Amino acid sequence: MDEVINTFSRIAKTYLSEIESRGVFPSEEALRKIKQFDIPLQDSSKDPVEVLKELDELGSNATVANTGGRYFGFVIGGVLPAPMGANLLAGVWDQNAGLEATSPVAAQLEEICAKWLSSILGLPASTGAGFVTGATMANFSALAAARHALLKGIGWDVEENGLFEAPPIQIVVGAEVHVSVLKALSLLGFGKKRLIQAAIDSQGRMRPETIPTLQGPVIICAQAGNVNTGAFDPLEAICEKARTMNAWVHVDGAFGLWAAASAGSAYLTKGMSNADSWATDAHKWLNVPYDSGLVFVREPQHLVSSMSASAAYLDSSGKREPFHYVPELSRRARAVEIWAALRSLGKNGLAEMVDRNCKYARLFAEKLQAAGYAILNDVVLNQVLVSFGNSQTTQRVIRSVQKDGTCWCSGTEWQGKTAMRISVSSWKTTQNDVEKSLRAILRIAKNECGSS
Ligand SMILES: *Cc1c(COP(=O)(O)O)cnc(C)c1O
Repeated sequence: MDEVINTFSRIAKTYLSEIESRGVFPSEEALRKIKQFDIPLQDSSKDPVEVLKELDELGSNATVANTGGRYFGFVIGGVLPAPMGANLLAGVWDQNAGLEATSPVAAQLEEICAKWLSSILGLPASTGAGFVTGATMANFSALAAARHALLKGIGWDVEENGLFEAPPIQIVVGAEVHVSVLKALSLLGFGKKRLIQAAIDSQGRMRPETIPTLQGPVIICAQAGNVNTGAFDPLEAICEKARTMNAWVHVDGAFGLWAAASAGSAYLTKGMSNADSWATDAHKWLNVPYDSGLVFVREPQHLVSSMSASAAYLDSSGKREPFHYVPELSRRARAVEIWAALRSLGKNGLAEMVDRNCKYARLFAEKLQAAGYAILNDVVLNQVLVSFGNSQTTQRVIRSVQKDGTCWCSGTEWQGKTAMRISVSSWKTTQNDVEKSLRAILRIAKNECGSS
């Protein structure tokens, strides 16, 4: 085992020391090399140290360098040192976090993290939390709790009787709802065609006055942080409207929920604590390793009722049984990394990281605008949408930026326009990274726009 740990340690140090000097996306050569993994599995066993070396030799250069400071694609954070180390230690511990009986330490850390997180994110003190793979499963779990609570309220036990003859639930989403919410709804038996769509404004925010007044059980799916613009639905007004019809409000805040951790951006989340459930990702803005999502429910008994495998599992000791809060039974101990991230950052460190990322997003927007390119969104958080002219030109710039390798940004469509999307979500990004990336983007844009 010692030699495996030493080998790993050598490989990891080299990987991290080279990450800033290589292209953010793997080279053609590195991509060719991973084809060498494609061999028939041999009969005999192989030395674990040799296995690690082979993985490094063939695989390390074919990774996307999102642990470096110049990855701005999708909304993918880096990984902070403390949760990276905690992740490795948790691997050594090999805990099954499903039950308190299989990992007292994981169960304890979940409870602590749930408390710390509801306080940091400004959620009601009663809130219960589940530790899932990502925001997709967090949305799923929260909406399962909503389904349970609303149907129970009108005398239908959905866990016992299913949905086939159940009274209908009406579901409102904004026109800019994230696809993962649609997926979660369809997994729960709420077909996509049955959804009621509320209109949005120029930033993708739901317009609460377009939510119809409905009879019977209603779920409103709101959004804290549009994946393109970073804009927040007006949560206070939505929750007010919801109260008039007894609706359950769910907030998808995969990255946006973390805005609540800083005084500089918390205004965006105003009214958020009036909702009934929330979903977020720790692997995005908290910068812990993949995979790590969080579901929060104001009245945790609804989550527990929808997630408990059977009443026989429920014990009466009043203890928090981790698997009663999530779809899985056996799973890894994600709270170990979340605890390590929060413990190392502290409240101020987390707020500072959020502020710093937002500041760099504004810097990107300012400099690109000053160079004559159109910024398509109000940069209120960490997301920037930039157009370099018509769709073809913008697409050419995006392709060249990705190929150049100095940094990596995604392409997207925003209200009929093609845009390059810059998402600043890593602790690792420095002012120097932003300036270096801007130089590359502006050089490429000048070339591409000149030749259009
Ligand atoms: C990323 C994202 C999701 C999906 O999260 P996963 O962790 O990939 O499951 C959902 N909603 C929004 C707004 C997102 O940005």
